[in-house]
Amino acid sequence: MSAASAINTTCPYCGVGCGVTAFRQAGPDNSCLTLNAVRGDESHPANQGKLCVKGSALATTLGSQGRLLHPRLHGCRTDWDTALDVVASGFRRIIAEHGPDAVAFYLSGQLLTEDYYVANKLMKGFIGSANVDTNSRLCMSSAVASYKRAFGADIVPCSYEDLEICDLLLITGSNAAWTHPVLFQRIRAAKQKRPEMKIVVIDPRRTATCEIADLHLALAPGSDAFLFTGLLAYLDQHQRLDETYIQNHTRDFAQAVADCPDIETVATATELDESVLIQFFRWFADTDKTVTFYSQGINQSATGTDKGNAIINCHLATGRIGKPGMGPFSITGQPNAMGGREVGGLANQLAAHMDFSAENIDRVSRFWQAPTIARNPGLNAVALFDAIASGKIKAIWIMATNPLVSLPESSRMHQALQACELVVVSDCIEDTDTSPYAHVLLPAAGWAEKDGTVTNSERCISRQRQLIPPPGEAQPDWWIVTQVAKRLGYTDAFHYTCPADIFREHAALSGFENTLEQNALRAFNIGGLAELSNAEYACLQPLRWPVSGQDYHCTETLLADGRFYTPDQRARFVPVQATLPKPRELDRYPWLLNTGRLRDQWHTMTRTGRAEKLMLHSPFPFVALSTRDALSTGIREGDLVRIHNQHGELLLQARIDPAQRNGELFIPIHWTQQFASAAVVNTLISSIVDPVSGQPESKYAGVQIQHLAVDQWLLCVSTTPVDVTAFPYWARIPLTAGWAYLLALAAGTDTDADPIQWVRNWLHELGISGEKIEFFDSRQGRLHCIITEQDKLGFGLFTSREPGSLPGPGFMQTILQHQPGPDSWRLVSQQHDDASNSRIICSCLQVQQSAIIDSIQAGARTVTALGRQLRCGTNCGSCVPELVELLRIHSNG
Ligand code: SF4
Repeated sequence: MSAASAINTTCPYCGVGCGVTAFRQAGPDNSCLTLNAVRGDESHPANQGKLCVKGSALATTLGSQGRLLHPRLHGCRTDWDTALDVVASGFRRIIAEHGPDAVAFYLSGQLLTEDYYVANKLMKGFIGSANVDTNSRLCMSSAVASYKRAFGADIVPCSYEDLEICDLLLITGSNAAWTHPVLFQRIRAAKQKRPEMKIVVIDPRRTATCEIADLHLALAPGSDAFLFTGLLAYLDQHQRLDETYIQNHTRDFAQAVADCPDIETVATATELDESVLIQFFRWFADTDKTVTFYSQGINQSATGTDKGNAIINCHLATGRIGKPGMGPFSITGQPNAMGGREVGGLANQLAAHMDFSAENIDRVSRFWQAPTIARNPGLNAVALFDAIASGKIKAIWIMATNPLVSLPESSRMHQALQACELVVVSDCIEDTDTSPYAHVLLPAAGWAEKDGTVTNSERCISRQRQLIPPPGEAQPDWWIVTQVAKRLGYTDAFHYTCPADIFREHAALSGFENTLEQNALRAFNIGGLAELSNAEYACLQPLRWPVSGQDYHCTETLLADGRFYTPDQRARFVPVQATLPKPRELDRYPWLLNTGRLRDQWHTMTRTGRAEKLMLHSPFPFVALSTRDALSTGIREGDLVRIHNQHGELLLQARIDPAQRNGELFIPIHWTQQFASAAVVNTLISSIVDPVSGQPESKYAGVQIQHLAVDQWLLCVSTTPVDVTAFPYWARIPLTAGWAYLLALAAGTDTDADPIQWVRNWLHELGISGEKIEFFDSRQGRLHCIITEQDKLGFGLFTSREPGSLPGPGFMQTILQHQPGPDSWRLVSQQHDDASNSRIICSCLQVQQSAIIDSIQAGARTVTALGRQLRCGTNCGSCVPELVELLRIHSNG
């Protein structure tokens, strides 16, 4: 083996955009490059050497298992030429017969900027339709719309440093401790250094982020606009405005303040005490250096754009914008949502922060030399899939995303794709919930296999670099799109030979006629990078836009001069009429469902689901409910419940969570049909969207909950995949050496006459060969068995009437390493108590909750003490908020 080489690249997960130093090793003949390890890039401004648990595990998520390795046509392997010909001829025929608006692209915040750019250019510039939308619509399109309404441009006016130097930080609609962990750690460190810095967390749930909060406002779901319009009214009534700023740099303040509610109304709508509201309002009024940090809890709403503007209004009214330590900071969920915004990947944008005005259409069509350019906005995500369902759109190309999991009313989306004449899917993964509907499946290169750029939440552009070759015949997305473009006859416009060619053109377009003189000044300008050589692009260091000059070192604070990108260069106050979400049918669906992310998972688990240690923090899908609700319904930890409404149903285990408000449920977004029988939470979400941004209301649904009796719970581990479709409930996780399955036999089905016999029959039908060792406890109804072959354990089955008596994560990890021998009966007859079931809290060092609680009860009183004893929290630090919470709960008991 030759020596390992270190290459700097960027994490593919969240919008923090951490720099990663990857160590790869080449074989003796340089033929087999492998990625050995990763660590945080100390030179990257976003993370300065830190990585969270997901980023730290990146090296374990590679490998060709489960990857889409070859093009497929109607399910059969084909070659690239045939597949690309079919895509191009299909699009050409449908466009000829039905016009350009009969076709669409659905893109993703996981694409690199170069991939995004060519896809957008092909559809909007040359096919002549603006039916290009992206899964970023589901993440931050309301934030884009509100920035645009207020500033005249999609400008995020803050940096990560602002979060560290502000004196008051409002974190609203974000569980940053789990969704943006490295940024959270930066904030936590700043707070430790300056304890006088105040942090307010605004969230219906008491999340891990509350660990650093001076004040937690557990407001009623969806009531945020009342809170911020109420704040504006308070600032006005108490003369805490920046009159000079309002006078010199804004318009429409009087209209905005006229509609604001009084404090009684705010208290009623938010369900917060007036005294707490006043404390919050005073803190805001008294603190100049204030940042409002917000994310999906604000954006994923039927009024998300208004909520964004309600926040921005408060910053404009106090002149707290474009200055160090101040501003409304919308944080993006996805690794390259910002890059997508820059190229124009949303259907209502044309390109490079230009919209569909006549001047912009003319400008871009001249730049691209594209006379057939689209002239009107296209359909956004939900409308686009509605148009597929109605037959208006007849061909869709889905790139790097899984809309059948992420779009609302997912069952309806299945029907839409089923009816579509031509479905093309480019993906890294072979089996996704979307891929069965693809007529053409195109294997795409994934993280570490392709080259390009991404932009993080603070407008910092970083290189993602190729580290290893793609497996099989996988190709980068930009290459796939340009091959189709050439087949459609646009060879001259898609002549790129490498990502650097595309980046230079993207940079040049951003600077093209970008001047005040031409009344076309645009904030997004990286024209200074348009002449980069290939070598300069290869070693491009992270940098924040704008970069209009050639020195590449622009540190300009946008909006610092109080000039905005509206025709009169003044910001707009947008009047916001605060409303609560549409009432649900309380008699049929009395429970309120909220959705969100988990600490160790990313999106639909196509990458994080490959890492055993990331799965064991929350191995199986669950619904969280409050302690009081658990008592009143008789639902216990681990019970099987059915959550349903008019759109469908899910089967999940219950998790009792004191952090939940009563009457409210929380379900994570990550599970797909690849990992569980019925756990896709978007099945239950209605297609209600914000009228301005088109972003769905993903965090507010009425549902019913029903406890299901279970005759037998089964935990099954196997070195090979097992057919578990006979079980009404199943969920599975990958292990390093195989798979683990959680299965349930519901009572009242044809299995309940003798469930153990039913299990024995199922086992027999699996036909697993080898020597079987079995233990059966008829009194407790427990059947344990292992099957060994050639001195290896290949299969294990453990049943119980109680889910809490099944083996836990630690056991799952080790059982497949068991060496069969005379003592194997001990393994089979072992009782599994609460300690062995305990969740893993520190994923890096695999420390279980039970061990942490034992340590606390034995006297450990700080995170440091726990780290010294158990090592938990000493690697990436992502589990520290949970350690603090465990200390809080167990220190006195
Ligand atoms: Fe990746 Fe974690 Fe950094 Fe997000 S915070 S970019 S997931 S390492």
